Amino acid sequence: MTEFKDMELREDILRAVFELGFEKPTGIQEKVIPEILEGKGDIIGLAQTGTGKTAGFGLPIIQETDVNTKAVQCIILCPTRELCLQICKDFKQYSKYVKGFKTLAIYGGASISTQINGLKSNPQVIVGTPGRTLDMIKRRKLSLTHIRQLVLDEADEMLNMGFREDLDAILKDTPKEKQTLLFSATMPSGVRQLTKKYMDNPVEIVIGKKNTGTADVEHEVYTVRAADRYLTLKRLLDINPGIYGIVFCRTRAETRDVAQKLIEDGYPADAIHGDLSQAQRDQVMHAFRNHSIQMLVATDVAARGLDIHDLTHIVNYNLPDELEMYIHRSGRTGRAGKKGKSLIISHSREGRKIQSLEKITGQKIVRKSVPRGEDIVQKRLYTLMDNIEKIVVDEEKIAPYWEEIKQKLDWLDRDELLKRLIFLEFNRFVEYYKNAKDLNAPEKENKPKRKNKERKNKERPNGKEIYKKSPVAESGFTRFFINIGEKQNIKVHNLIGLINENTRNRNIEIGKIDIMRKFSFFEVEEAFTTQVLNAFNDTYYHDTKLVVEISKPDNKVKARPEKEHAYKKEHTYKKKKGSKQRKRQRR
Ligand code: ADP
Ligand code: MG
Repeated sequence: MTEFKDMELREDILRAVFELGFEKPTGIQEKVIPEILEGKGDIIGLAQTGTGKTAGFGLPIIQETDVNTKAVQCIILCPTRELCLQICKDFKQYSKYVKGFKTLAIYGGASISTQINGLKSNPQVIVGTPGRTLDMIKRRKLSLTHIRQLVLDEADEMLNMGFREDLDAILKDTPKEKQTLLFSATMPSGVRQLTKKYMDNPVEIVIGKKNTGTADVEHEVYTVRAADRYLTLKRLLDINPGIYGIVFCRTRAETRDVAQKLIEDGYPADAIHGDLSQAQRDQVMHAFRNHSIQMLVATDVAARGLDIHDLTHIVNYNLPDELEMYIHRSGRTGRAGKKGKSLIISHSREGRKIQSLEKITGQKIVRKSVPRGEDIVQKRLYTLMDNIEKIVVDEEKIAPYWEEIKQKLDWLDRDELLKRLIFLEFNRFVEYYKNAKDLNAPEKENKPKRKNKERKNKERPNGKEIYKKSPVAESGFTRFFINIGEKQNIKVHNLIGLINENTRNRNIEIGKIDIMRKFSFFEVEEAFTTQVLNAFNDTYYHDTKLVVEISKPDNKVKARPEKEHAYKKEHTYKKKKGSKQRKRQRR
Protein backbone atom coordinates (compact mmCIF):
# COMPACT_ATOMS: atom_id res chain seq x y z
CA MET A 1 0.00 0.00 0.00
CA THR A 2 1.35 3.35 -1.04
CA GLU A 3 1.49 6.16 1.49
CA PHE A 4 1.17 9.86 0.72
CA LYS A 5 4.71 10.42 1.86
CA ASP A 6 6.04 7.95 -0.74
CA MET A 7 4.53 9.98 -3.54
CA GLU A 8 7.02 12.77 -4.12
CA LEU A 9 4.59 15.31 -2.83
CA ARG A 10 6.17 18.37 -1.24
CA GLU A 11 6.20 18.91 2.52
CA ASP A 12 3.94 21.97 2.37
CA ILE A 13 1.29 19.95 0.54
CA LEU A 14 1.63 16.83 2.69
CA ARG A 15 1.16 18.91 5.79
CA ALA A 16 -2.23 20.14 4.58
CA VAL A 17 -3.24 16.66 3.48
CA PHE A 18 -2.53 15.22 6.91
CA GLU A 19 -4.32 18.08 8.59
CA LEU A 20 -7.39 17.12 6.58
CA GLY A 21 -7.13 13.69 8.12
CA PHE A 22 -6.32 11.86 4.89
CA GLU A 23 -4.24 8.92 6.02
CA LYS A 24 -3.74 6.94 2.84
CA PRO A 25 -4.31 7.81 -0.80
CA THR A 26 -7.45 6.35 -2.35
CA GLY A 27 -7.20 3.98 -5.31
CA ILE A 28 -7.53 6.68 -7.93
CA GLN A 29 -5.11 8.99 -6.09
CA GLU A 30 -2.53 6.23 -5.91
CA LYS A 31 -2.53 5.97 -9.69
CA VAL A 32 -3.27 9.52 -10.81
CA ILE A 33 -0.93 11.52 -8.55
CA PRO A 34 2.34 9.90 -9.76
CA GLU A 35 1.09 9.93 -13.34
CA ILE A 36 0.55 13.69 -13.25
CA LEU A 37 3.76 14.39 -11.34
CA GLU A 38 5.92 12.35 -13.67
CA GLY A 39 4.41 12.61 -17.08
CA LYS A 40 2.94 15.24 -19.25
CA GLY A 41 0.64 12.87 -21.09
CA ASP A 42 -3.14 13.01 -21.12
CA ILE A 43 -5.11 10.99 -18.58
CA ILE A 44 -8.61 9.63 -18.43
CA GLY A 45 -9.67 8.84 -14.87
CA LEU A 46 -12.77 6.73 -14.45
CA ALA A 47 -13.96 6.28 -10.92
CA GLN A 48 -17.11 6.56 -8.92
CA THR A 49 -18.14 9.71 -7.14
CA GLY A 50 -16.61 9.89 -3.71
CA THR A 51 -13.36 8.20 -4.59
CA GLY A 52 -11.26 11.30 -4.01
CA LYS A 53 -10.71 12.47 -7.57
CA THR A 54 -10.39 16.12 -6.56
CA ALA A 55 -7.27 15.54 -4.48
CA GLY A 56 -6.13 13.08 -7.14
CA PHE A 57 -5.67 15.87 -9.66
CA GLY A 58 -5.56 18.74 -7.15
CA LEU A 59 -2.46 17.84 -5.18
CA PRO A 60 -0.12 17.37 -8.18
CA ILE A 61 -1.58 20.39 -9.98
CA ILE A 62 -0.91 22.58 -6.97
CA GLN A 63 2.60 21.19 -6.69
CA GLU A 64 3.35 21.91 -10.35
CA THR A 65 1.96 25.42 -10.32
CA ASP A 66 4.54 28.15 -10.75
CA VAL A 67 3.46 30.77 -8.21
CA ASN A 68 5.76 33.35 -9.74
CA THR A 69 4.03 33.58 -13.09
CA LYS A 70 0.95 35.70 -13.51
CA ALA A 71 -0.82 33.96 -16.36
CA VAL A 72 -3.52 31.37 -15.76
CA GLN A 73 -1.79 28.00 -15.82
CA CYS A 74 -4.59 25.59 -15.28
CA ILE A 75 -8.35 25.54 -15.80
CA ILE A 76 -10.71 23.04 -14.24
CA LEU A 77 -14.10 22.82 -15.88
CA CYS A 78 -16.97 21.25 -14.00
CA PRO A 79 -20.76 21.08 -14.47
CA THR A 80 -22.28 23.07 -11.61
CA ARG A 81 -21.78 26.06 -9.42
CA GLU A 82 -21.79 23.89 -6.29
CA LEU A 83 -19.09 21.64 -7.62
CA CYS A 84 -17.10 24.65 -8.73
CA LEU A 85 -17.19 26.13 -5.25
CA GLN A 86 -16.39 22.78 -3.70
CA ILE A 87 -13.34 22.16 -5.86
CA CYS A 88 -12.12 25.69 -5.22
CA LYS A 89 -12.54 25.20 -1.49
CA ASP A 90 -10.71 21.87 -1.64
CA PHE A 91 -7.84 23.49 -3.56
CA LYS A 92 -7.61 26.23 -0.94
CA GLN A 93 -7.34 23.62 1.77
CA TYR A 94 -4.71 21.56 -0.04
CA SER A 95 -2.66 24.68 -0.79
CA LYS A 96 -2.99 26.15 2.69
CA TYR A 97 0.79 26.10 3.20
CA VAL A 98 1.79 26.87 -0.38
CA LYS A 99 2.81 30.52 -0.46
CA GLY A 100 1.51 32.60 -3.35
CA PHE A 101 -0.88 29.96 -4.68
CA LYS A 102 -4.18 31.46 -5.80
CA THR A 103 -7.32 29.90 -7.17
CA LEU A 104 -10.66 31.39 -8.22
CA ALA A 105 -14.11 29.99 -8.91
CA ILE A 106 -16.14 31.45 -11.77
CA TYR A 107 -19.72 30.34 -12.19
CA GLY A 108 -23.10 31.66 -13.30
CA GLY A 109 -25.80 33.03 -11.06
CA ALA A 110 -23.42 35.30 -9.17
CA SER A 111 -22.08 38.79 -9.77
CA ILE A 112 -19.77 38.80 -12.77
CA SER A 113 -18.01 42.00 -11.74
CA THR A 114 -16.87 40.45 -8.45
CA GLN A 115 -15.45 37.55 -10.40
CA ILE A 116 -13.80 39.92 -12.90
CA ASN A 117 -12.14 41.65 -9.97
CA GLY A 118 -11.03 38.28 -8.71
CA LEU A 119 -9.36 37.58 -12.05
CA LYS A 120 -7.37 40.78 -11.70
CA SER A 121 -5.53 39.34 -8.71
CA ASN A 122 -3.96 36.76 -11.07
CA PRO A 123 -5.05 33.37 -9.83
CA GLN A 124 -2.97 30.59 -11.36
CA VAL A 125 -5.77 28.03 -11.25
CA ILE A 126 -9.35 28.73 -12.36
CA VAL A 127 -12.26 26.50 -11.51
CA GLY A 128 -15.19 27.31 -13.77
CA THR A 129 -18.50 26.21 -15.14
CA PRO A 130 -18.44 26.14 -18.95
CA GLY A 131 -21.06 28.87 -19.44
CA ARG A 132 -19.43 31.52 -17.27
CA THR A 133 -15.94 30.59 -18.39
CA LEU A 134 -16.87 31.14 -22.02
CA ASP A 135 -18.53 34.41 -21.09
CA MET A 136 -15.30 35.60 -19.44
CA ILE A 137 -13.27 34.62 -22.48
CA LYS A 138 -15.63 36.50 -24.81
CA ARG A 139 -15.42 39.56 -22.59
CA ARG A 140 -11.64 39.26 -22.81
CA LYS A 141 -11.35 39.06 -19.04
CA LEU A 142 -9.89 35.61 -19.14
CA SER A 143 -7.27 34.18 -21.44
CA LEU A 144 -6.45 30.51 -21.62
CA THR A 145 -3.72 30.86 -24.21
CA HIS A 146 -0.99 29.98 -21.71
CA ILE A 147 -2.52 27.12 -19.82
CA ARG A 148 -0.40 24.05 -19.26
CA GLN A 149 -3.15 21.89 -17.81
CA LEU A 150 -6.84 21.42 -18.46
CA VAL A 151 -9.15 19.35 -16.30
CA LEU A 152 -12.60 18.23 -17.37
CA ASP A 153 -14.21 17.09 -14.15
CA GLU A 154 -17.44 15.09 -14.21
CA ALA A 155 -17.28 15.09 -17.99
CA ASP A 156 -20.36 12.88 -18.28
CA GLU A 157 -22.40 15.36 -16.28
CA MET A 158 -21.16 18.29 -18.34
CA LEU A 159 -22.36 16.59 -21.49
CA ASN A 160 -25.64 15.61 -19.82
CA MET A 161 -26.19 19.24 -19.07
CA GLY A 162 -25.64 20.26 -22.65
CA PHE A 163 -22.26 21.97 -22.32
CA ARG A 164 -20.79 20.34 -25.38
CA GLU A 165 -20.73 23.46 -27.56
CA ASP A 166 -19.40 25.63 -24.76
CA LEU A 167 -16.59 23.15 -24.24
CA ASP A 168 -15.74 23.24 -27.95
CA ALA A 169 -15.64 27.03 -27.90
CA ILE A 170 -13.48 27.17 -24.75
CA LEU A 171 -10.99 24.55 -25.89
CA LYS A 172 -10.54 26.18 -29.28
CA ASP A 173 -8.27 28.87 -27.85
CA THR A 174 -6.07 26.73 -25.67
CA PRO A 175 -2.51 25.73 -26.60
CA LYS A 176 -1.99 22.45 -28.34
CA GLU A 177 0.82 21.54 -26.01
CA LYS A 178 -0.96 20.99 -22.74
CA GLN A 179 -1.88 18.15 -20.46
CA THR A 180 -5.57 17.26 -20.55
CA LEU A 181 -7.12 15.34 -17.68
CA LEU A 182 -10.64 14.02 -17.96
CA PHE A 183 -12.57 12.59 -15.02
CA SER A 184 -15.87 10.87 -15.21
CA ALA A 185 -17.91 8.34 -13.30
CA THR A 186 -19.30 6.78 -16.45
CA MET A 187 -18.06 6.47 -20.03
CA PRO A 188 -20.99 7.00 -22.38
CA SER A 189 -20.25 7.46 -26.08
CA GLY A 190 -20.40 11.26 -25.82
CA VAL A 191 -17.51 11.27 -23.38
CA ARG A 192 -15.62 8.79 -25.54
CA GLN A 193 -15.96 11.20 -28.47
CA LEU A 194 -14.73 14.03 -26.30
CA THR A 195 -11.59 12.06 -25.43
CA LYS A 196 -10.97 11.30 -29.12
CA LYS A 197 -11.36 14.92 -30.09
CA TYR A 198 -9.38 16.61 -27.35
CA MET A 199 -6.96 14.10 -25.98
CA ASP A 200 -3.72 12.83 -27.30
CA ASN A 201 -2.99 9.18 -26.70
CA PRO A 202 -4.46 9.24 -23.20
CA VAL A 203 -3.66 6.77 -20.43
CA GLU A 204 -6.87 5.34 -19.07
CA ILE A 205 -7.05 4.73 -15.36
CA VAL A 206 -10.09 2.80 -14.26
CA ILE A 207 -10.81 2.22 -10.62
CA GLY A 208 -13.35 -0.43 -9.82
CA LYS A 209 -15.85 -1.57 -12.37
CA LYS A 210 -16.97 1.06 -14.81
CA ASN A 211 -20.52 2.22 -14.35
CA THR A 212 -21.06 0.71 -10.95
CA GLY A 213 -21.93 1.94 -7.53
CA THR A 214 -19.44 2.01 -4.70
CA ALA A 215 -19.12 -1.07 -2.55
CA ASP A 216 -19.52 1.05 0.54
CA VAL A 217 -23.14 1.61 -0.28
CA GLU A 218 -25.73 -0.89 0.85
CA HIS A 219 -28.86 -0.97 -1.24
CA GLU A 220 -32.26 -1.80 0.21
CA VAL A 221 -35.67 -1.93 -1.38
CA TYR A 222 -39.02 -1.55 0.36
CA THR A 223 -41.99 -2.66 -1.68
CA VAL A 224 -45.22 -0.85 -0.88
CA ARG A 225 -48.42 0.32 -2.48
CA ALA A 226 -47.97 3.55 -4.41
CA ALA A 227 -50.36 5.30 -2.05
CA ASP A 228 -48.18 4.39 0.94
CA ARG A 229 -44.96 5.96 -0.31
CA TYR A 230 -45.08 8.91 1.99
CA LEU A 231 -45.98 6.90 5.09
CA THR A 232 -43.13 4.57 4.26
CA LEU A 233 -40.73 7.49 3.95
CA LYS A 234 -41.76 8.67 7.40
CA ARG A 235 -41.14 5.26 8.89
CA LEU A 236 -37.73 5.05 7.29
CA LEU A 237 -36.86 8.44 8.74
CA ASP A 238 -38.21 7.50 12.15
CA ILE A 239 -36.29 4.25 12.38
CA ASN A 240 -33.07 6.12 11.48
CA PRO A 241 -32.91 8.95 14.00
CA GLY A 242 -29.46 10.16 12.96
CA ILE A 243 -30.26 10.22 9.25
CA TYR A 244 -28.58 12.90 7.12
CA GLY A 245 -29.49 12.49 3.51
CA ILE A 246 -31.19 13.32 0.26
CA VAL A 247 -34.67 12.16 -0.73
CA PHE A 248 -34.85 11.96 -4.51
CA CYS A 249 -38.14 12.67 -6.24
CA ARG A 250 -39.03 12.60 -9.89
CA THR A 251 -40.60 15.99 -10.42
CA ARG A 252 -40.46 19.47 -8.98
CA ALA A 253 -44.08 19.20 -7.88
CA GLU A 254 -43.43 15.97 -6.05
CA THR A 255 -40.31 17.43 -4.45
CA ARG A 256 -42.26 20.40 -3.18
CA ASP A 257 -45.10 18.22 -2.00
CA VAL A 258 -42.96 15.72 -0.09
CA ALA A 259 -40.88 18.45 1.55
CA GLN A 260 -43.99 20.35 2.51
CA LYS A 261 -45.54 17.31 4.16
CA LEU A 262 -42.34 16.49 6.00
CA ILE A 263 -42.08 20.02 7.32
CA GLU A 264 -45.70 19.96 8.43
CA ASP A 265 -45.07 16.67 10.19
CA GLY A 266 -42.20 18.22 12.09
CA TYR A 267 -39.19 16.80 10.27
CA PRO A 268 -36.10 18.95 9.67
CA ALA A 269 -36.43 18.88 5.89
CA ASP A 270 -36.50 21.23 2.93
CA ALA A 271 -36.70 21.07 -0.83
CA ILE A 272 -34.28 21.98 -3.56
CA HIS A 273 -35.52 22.15 -7.12
CA GLY A 274 -35.32 24.23 -10.26
CA ASP A 275 -38.02 26.70 -9.23
CA LEU A 276 -35.94 28.20 -6.44
CA SER A 277 -34.05 31.43 -6.89
CA GLN A 278 -30.32 31.32 -6.36
CA ALA A 279 -30.74 33.03 -3.00
CA GLN A 280 -33.34 30.53 -1.83
CA ARG A 281 -31.17 27.72 -3.03
CA ASP A 282 -28.17 29.05 -1.13
CA GLN A 283 -30.24 29.36 2.00
CA VAL A 284 -31.43 25.77 1.82
CA MET A 285 -27.94 24.50 1.07
CA HIS A 286 -26.50 26.47 3.95
CA ALA A 287 -29.03 24.96 6.35
CA PHE A 288 -28.33 21.51 5.00
CA ARG A 289 -24.58 21.89 5.23
CA ASN A 290 -24.72 22.88 8.86
CA HIS A 291 -27.13 20.04 9.59
CA SER A 292 -30.04 22.19 10.70
CA ILE A 293 -31.86 20.41 7.88
CA GLN A 294 -31.41 16.65 8.02
CA MET A 295 -33.28 15.73 4.87
CA LEU A 296 -32.96 17.47 1.56
CA VAL A 297 -35.74 16.62 -0.87
CA ALA A 298 -34.46 17.08 -4.41
CA THR A 299 -34.89 16.37 -8.07
CA ASP A 300 -32.01 14.73 -9.89
CA VAL A 301 -31.26 17.88 -11.82
CA ALA A 302 -31.22 20.10 -8.75
CA ALA A 303 -28.98 17.69 -6.87
CA ARG A 304 -26.39 17.51 -9.63
CA GLY A 305 -22.98 18.43 -8.41
CA LEU A 306 -24.11 19.04 -4.84
CA ASP A 307 -21.03 17.98 -3.04
CA ILE A 308 -22.12 17.24 0.46
CA HIS A 309 -20.03 14.77 2.34
CA ASP A 310 -20.93 12.28 5.02
CA LEU A 311 -24.48 11.67 3.88
CA THR A 312 -25.71 8.63 5.77
CA HIS A 313 -28.59 7.82 3.45
CA ILE A 314 -30.03 8.32 0.01
CA VAL A 315 -33.75 7.72 -0.22
CA ASN A 316 -35.23 7.01 -3.63
CA TYR A 317 -38.81 8.16 -3.16
CA ASN A 318 -39.28 7.05 -6.73
CA LEU A 319 -36.91 5.24 -9.01
CA PRO A 320 -35.41 7.54 -11.63
CA ASP A 321 -36.76 7.21 -15.17
CA GLU A 322 -33.28 6.56 -16.41
CA LEU A 323 -31.89 3.78 -14.28
CA GLU A 324 -28.29 4.92 -14.87
CA MET A 325 -29.21 7.95 -12.82
CA TYR A 326 -29.49 5.67 -9.81
CA ILE A 327 -25.71 5.34 -9.76
CA HIS A 328 -25.33 9.08 -9.41
CA ARG A 329 -27.90 9.16 -6.67
CA SER A 330 -26.53 6.33 -4.58
CA GLY A 331 -22.96 7.48 -5.23
CA ARG A 332 -23.62 10.49 -3.03
CA THR A 333 -23.42 8.38 0.06
CA GLY A 334 -20.78 5.87 1.18
CA ARG A 335 -17.92 8.20 0.40
CA ALA A 336 -14.29 7.95 1.38
CA GLY A 337 -14.50 4.75 3.33
CA LYS A 338 -17.66 5.57 5.21
CA LYS A 339 -20.66 3.29 4.91
CA GLY A 340 -23.83 4.62 3.37
CA LYS A 341 -27.25 3.29 2.53
CA SER A 342 -29.40 3.80 -0.51
CA LEU A 343 -33.04 3.05 0.24
CA ILE A 344 -35.55 2.49 -2.53
CA ILE A 345 -39.25 2.87 -1.99
CA SER A 346 -40.61 0.73 -4.75
CA HIS A 347 -43.92 -0.29 -6.16
CA SER A 348 -44.79 -3.97 -6.44
CA ARG A 349 -44.68 -3.82 -10.22
CA GLU A 350 -41.12 -2.53 -10.33
CA GLY A 351 -39.54 -5.90 -9.62
CA ARG A 352 -37.91 -6.03 -13.00
CA LYS A 353 -36.41 -2.57 -12.61
CA ILE A 354 -34.85 -3.66 -9.35
CA GLN A 355 -33.25 -6.60 -11.12
CA SER A 356 -31.87 -4.30 -13.82
CA LEU A 357 -30.48 -2.05 -11.12
CA GLU A 358 -28.68 -4.99 -9.58
CA LYS A 359 -27.08 -5.60 -12.97
CA ILE A 360 -26.15 -1.98 -13.51
CA THR A 361 -24.67 -1.51 -10.06
CA GLY A 362 -23.26 -5.01 -9.85
CA GLN A 363 -24.54 -5.09 -6.33
CA LYS A 364 -27.20 -6.88 -4.38
CA ILE A 365 -30.31 -4.90 -3.55
CA VAL A 366 -31.65 -6.34 -0.36
CA ARG A 367 -35.42 -6.77 -0.05
CA LYS A 368 -36.50 -5.39 3.29
CA SER A 369 -39.86 -5.01 4.94
CA VAL A 370 -41.07 -1.62 6.08
CA PRO A 371 -40.50 -1.31 9.82
CA ARG A 372 -43.58 -1.89 11.90
CA GLY A 373 -44.86 0.73 14.28
CA GLU A 374 -43.63 -1.23 17.28
CA ASP A 375 -40.12 -1.58 15.78
CA ILE A 376 -39.92 2.17 15.47
CA VAL A 377 -41.21 2.79 18.97
CA GLN A 378 -38.60 0.35 20.32
CA LYS A 379 -35.82 1.96 18.33
CA ARG A 380 -36.74 5.47 19.45
CA LEU A 381 -36.92 4.35 23.06
CA TYR A 382 -33.41 2.92 22.88
CA THR A 383 -32.11 6.02 21.15
CA LEU A 384 -33.65 8.19 23.83
CA MET A 385 -32.14 6.10 26.62
CA ASP A 386 -28.83 6.11 24.82
CA ASN A 387 -28.91 9.86 24.50
CA ILE A 388 -29.67 10.27 28.17
CA GLU A 389 -26.71 8.05 28.99
CA LYS A 390 -24.32 9.76 26.63
CA ILE A 391 -25.11 13.42 26.99
CA VAL A 392 -22.39 15.41 28.64
CA VAL A 393 -23.96 18.00 30.87
CA ASP A 394 -22.28 21.36 30.83
CA GLU A 395 -22.34 22.12 34.54
CA GLU A 396 -21.67 25.79 34.04
CA LYS A 397 -24.65 26.25 31.80
CA ILE A 398 -27.06 24.51 34.08
CA ALA A 399 -25.69 26.01 37.31
CA PRO A 400 -27.75 29.23 37.32
CA TYR A 401 -31.00 27.25 37.13
CA TRP A 402 -30.04 24.26 39.17
CA GLU A 403 -31.41 25.37 42.53
CA GLU A 404 -34.73 26.29 41.01
CA ILE A 405 -34.99 23.02 39.12
CA LYS A 406 -34.28 21.03 42.27
CA GLN A 407 -36.80 22.95 44.27
CA LYS A 408 -39.57 22.67 41.76
CA LEU A 409 -39.12 18.97 41.03
CA ASP A 410 -38.08 17.88 44.48
CA TRP A 411 -41.34 16.09 45.20
CA LEU A 412 -40.83 13.63 42.33
CA ASP A 413 -38.89 10.48 43.13
CA ARG A 414 -36.37 9.04 40.73
CA ASP A 415 -38.70 6.59 38.98
CA GLU A 416 -41.46 9.10 38.58
CA LEU A 417 -39.06 11.66 37.20
CA LEU A 418 -37.62 9.21 34.70
CA LYS A 419 -41.01 8.09 33.51
CA ARG A 420 -42.12 11.63 32.93
CA LEU A 421 -38.94 12.64 31.18
CA ILE A 422 -39.10 9.70 28.81
CA PHE A 423 -42.79 10.02 28.23
CA LEU A 424 -42.41 13.66 27.30
CA GLU A 425 -40.17 12.79 24.38
CA PHE A 426 -41.47 9.43 23.58
CA ASN A 427 -45.22 9.76 23.66
CA ARG A 428 -45.35 11.25 20.19
CA PHE A 429 -44.13 8.00 18.64
CA VAL A 430 -46.27 5.77 20.79
CA GLU A 431 -49.31 7.82 19.90
CA TYR A 432 -48.54 8.00 16.23
CA TYR A 433 -47.73 4.35 15.81
CA LYS A 434 -50.56 3.02 17.93
CA ASN A 435 -52.36 0.56 15.65
CA ALA A 436 -50.09 1.46 12.73
CA LYS A 437 -50.88 -0.65 9.70
CA ASP A 438 -48.56 -2.92 7.80
CA LEU A 439 -47.28 -0.96 4.82
CA ASN A 440 -45.66 -3.82 2.97
CA ALA A 441 -47.31 -4.59 -0.34
CA PRO A 442 -49.24 -7.86 -0.26
CA GLU A 443 -46.90 -10.77 -0.68
CA LYS A 444 -48.63 -12.29 -3.65
CA GLU A 445 -47.76 -9.36 -5.86
CA ASN A 446 -44.43 -9.01 -4.28
CA LYS A 447 -42.86 -12.43 -4.28
CA PRO A 448 -40.93 -13.61 -7.27
CA LYS A 449 -42.40 -16.78 -8.78
CA ARG A 450 -39.65 -19.14 -7.80
CA LYS A 451 -40.01 -18.26 -4.14
CA ASN A 452 -43.63 -19.29 -4.30
CA LYS A 453 -42.67 -22.67 -5.59
CA GLU A 454 -40.14 -23.26 -2.85
CA ARG A 455 -42.62 -22.37 -0.22
CA LYS A 456 -45.29 -24.51 -1.73
CA ASN A 457 -43.07 -27.55 -1.61
CA LYS A 458 -42.27 -26.95 1.97
CA GLU A 459 -45.83 -26.63 3.03
CA ARG A 460 -47.15 -29.48 1.03
CA PRO A 461 -44.58 -32.18 0.53
CA ASN A 462 -46.95 -34.72 -0.98
CA GLY A 463 -49.52 -32.58 -2.70
CA LYS A 464 -52.30 -34.50 -0.97
CA GLU A 465 -52.71 -32.56 2.19
CA ILE A 466 -55.00 -30.10 0.52
CA TYR A 467 -57.78 -32.60 0.70
CA LYS A 468 -57.66 -32.59 4.47
CA LYS A 469 -60.90 -31.62 6.01
CA SER A 470 -61.14 -27.94 6.70
CA PRO A 471 -61.91 -27.08 10.29
CA VAL A 472 -63.92 -24.04 9.26
CA ALA A 473 -66.11 -25.69 6.67
CA GLU A 474 -69.85 -25.80 7.09
CA SER A 475 -70.40 -22.79 9.32
CA GLY A 476 -70.15 -19.26 7.95
CA PHE A 477 -70.18 -20.48 4.35
CA THR A 478 -72.64 -20.13 1.54
CA ARG A 479 -73.22 -23.13 -0.64
CA PHE A 480 -73.47 -22.55 -4.38
CA PHE A 481 -74.74 -24.61 -7.23
CA ILE A 482 -72.88 -24.50 -10.55
CA ASN A 483 -74.05 -26.19 -13.75
CA ILE A 484 -70.85 -28.04 -14.65
CA GLY A 485 -69.54 -31.34 -13.32
CA GLU A 486 -67.73 -34.55 -14.27
CA LYS A 487 -69.32 -34.54 -17.67
CA GLN A 488 -67.35 -31.41 -18.48
CA ASN A 489 -64.28 -33.03 -16.96
CA ILE A 490 -64.39 -30.73 -13.97
CA LYS A 491 -61.99 -31.56 -11.15
CA VAL A 492 -61.67 -29.83 -7.81
CA HIS A 493 -58.80 -27.72 -8.99
CA ASN A 494 -60.67 -26.55 -12.09
CA LEU A 495 -63.46 -25.30 -9.94
CA ILE A 496 -61.13 -23.51 -7.54
CA GLY A 497 -59.42 -21.98 -10.50
CA LEU A 498 -62.71 -20.77 -11.91
CA ILE A 499 -63.70 -19.19 -8.63
CA ASN A 500 -60.35 -17.45 -8.30
CA GLU A 501 -60.32 -16.29 -11.85
CA ASN A 502 -63.80 -14.89 -11.92
CA THR A 503 -63.78 -13.26 -8.50
CA ARG A 504 -60.24 -11.97 -8.99
CA ASN A 505 -59.84 -12.33 -5.28
CA ARG A 506 -57.69 -15.07 -3.93
CA ASN A 507 -58.33 -14.28 -0.33
CA ILE A 508 -61.78 -15.77 -0.44
CA GLU A 509 -61.90 -18.90 1.58
CA ILE A 510 -63.42 -21.86 -0.23
CA GLY A 511 -65.10 -24.62 1.76
CA LYS A 512 -66.54 -27.94 0.69
CA ILE A 513 -66.66 -28.88 -2.98
CA ASP A 514 -68.93 -31.62 -4.31
CA ILE A 515 -68.57 -32.59 -7.93
CA MET A 516 -71.50 -34.45 -9.48
CA ARG A 517 -72.12 -35.77 -12.96
CA LYS A 518 -73.66 -32.70 -14.55
CA PHE A 519 -73.27 -30.08 -11.87
CA SER A 520 -71.39 -29.29 -8.68
CA PHE A 521 -71.63 -27.50 -5.36
CA PHE A 522 -69.08 -25.34 -3.67
CA GLU A 523 -68.95 -23.37 -0.47
CA VAL A 524 -67.55 -19.88 -0.10
CA GLU A 525 -67.21 -17.62 2.94
CA GLU A 526 -70.54 -15.99 3.57
CA ALA A 527 -69.19 -12.47 3.34
CA PHE A 528 -68.37 -12.99 -0.32
CA THR A 529 -71.75 -14.31 -1.40
CA THR A 530 -72.75 -11.37 -3.59
CA GLN A 531 -69.26 -11.05 -4.99
CA VAL A 532 -69.34 -14.65 -6.15
CA LEU A 533 -72.80 -14.34 -7.66
CA ASN A 534 -71.78 -11.24 -9.57
CA ALA A 535 -68.50 -12.73 -10.63
CA PHE A 536 -70.14 -15.56 -12.52
CA ASN A 537 -72.60 -13.35 -14.27
CA ASP A 538 -72.33 -13.98 -18.01
CA THR A 539 -69.29 -16.25 -17.87
CA TYR A 540 -68.46 -19.40 -19.81
CA TYR A 541 -66.56 -22.60 -19.22
CA HIS A 542 -65.51 -23.65 -22.68
CA ASP A 543 -68.87 -23.67 -24.45
CA THR A 544 -71.08 -23.89 -21.42
CA LYS A 545 -72.64 -20.71 -20.15
CA LEU A 546 -72.24 -20.87 -16.42
CA VAL A 547 -75.17 -20.74 -14.03
CA VAL A 548 -74.25 -20.13 -10.43
CA GLU A 549 -76.96 -19.98 -7.78
CA ILE A 550 -77.20 -20.15 -4.06
CA SER A 551 -78.10 -23.68 -3.21
CA LYS A 552 -80.91 -24.03 -0.69
CA PRO A 553 -80.61 -27.02 1.66
CA ASP A 554 -83.76 -28.61 0.28
CA ASN A 555 -82.67 -27.96 -3.33
CA LYS A 556 -79.65 -29.93 -2.51
CA VAL A 557 -81.65 -33.06 -1.95
CA LYS A 558 -83.84 -32.44 -4.94
CA ALA A 559 -80.93 -31.66 -7.16
CA ARG A 560 -79.31 -34.97 -6.50
CA PRO A 561 -81.07 -37.69 -8.40
CA GLU A 562 -80.30 -41.21 -7.25
CA LYS A 563 -78.18 -41.96 -10.25
CA GLU A 564 -75.77 -39.17 -9.61
CA HIS A 565 -75.02 -40.42 -6.14
CA ALA A 566 -72.82 -43.16 -7.36
CA TYR A 567 -70.42 -40.68 -8.85
CA LYS A 568 -70.39 -38.32 -5.98
CA LYS A 569 -67.00 -37.27 -4.78
CA GLU A 570 -66.67 -35.28 -1.69
CA HIS A 571 -63.78 -33.03 -1.17
CA THR A 572 -63.23 -30.30 1.28
CA TYR A 573 -60.66 -27.80 0.43
CA LYS A 574 -59.22 -25.13 2.60
CA LYS A 575 -57.48 -22.74 0.32
CA LYS A 576 -53.84 -21.95 0.81
CA LYS A 577 -51.74 -19.52 -1.09
CA GLY A 578 -49.75 -20.80 -4.02
CA SER A 579 -51.78 -23.95 -4.40
CA LYS A 580 -50.83 -26.36 -7.12
CA GLN A 581 -54.38 -26.49 -8.35
CA ARG A 582 -54.63 -22.83 -8.91
CA LYS A 583 -51.39 -22.71 -10.80
CA ARG A 584 -52.34 -25.43 -13.16
CA GLN A 585 -55.66 -23.89 -13.82
CA ARG A 586 -54.17 -20.54 -14.61
CA ARG A 587 -51.77 -21.79 -17.19
P1 ADP B 1 -14.93 12.54 -6.22
O1 ADP B 1 -14.52 13.79 -6.92
O2 ADP B 1 -14.20 11.33 -6.68
O3 ADP B 1 -16.42 12.34 -6.25
P2 ADP B 1 -14.06 13.91 -3.88
O4 ADP B 1 -12.78 14.36 -4.39
O5 ADP B 1 -15.15 14.91 -3.80
O6 ADP B 1 -14.57 12.64 -4.68
O7 ADP B 1 -13.79 13.25 -2.44
C1 ADP B 1 -14.80 12.70 -1.65
C2 ADP B 1 -14.49 12.84 -0.19
O8 ADP B 1 -13.37 12.06 0.19
C3 ADP B 1 -14.14 14.24 0.23
O9 ADP B 1 -14.78 14.52 1.44
C4 ADP B 1 -12.65 14.22 0.41
O10 ADP B 1 -12.25 15.20 1.35
C5 ADP B 1 -12.44 12.83 0.90
N1 ADP B 1 -11.10 12.28 0.61
C6 ADP B 1 -10.41 12.44 -0.55
N2 ADP B 1 -9.24 11.75 -0.49
C7 ADP B 1 -9.18 11.16 0.71
C8 ADP B 1 -8.23 10.32 1.36
N3 ADP B 1 -7.10 9.96 0.77
N4 ADP B 1 -8.51 9.89 2.61
C9 ADP B 1 -9.66 10.24 3.21
N5 ADP B 1 -10.61 11.03 2.66
C10 ADP B 1 -10.39 11.49 1.41
MG1 MG C 1 -15.41 15.09 -8.01
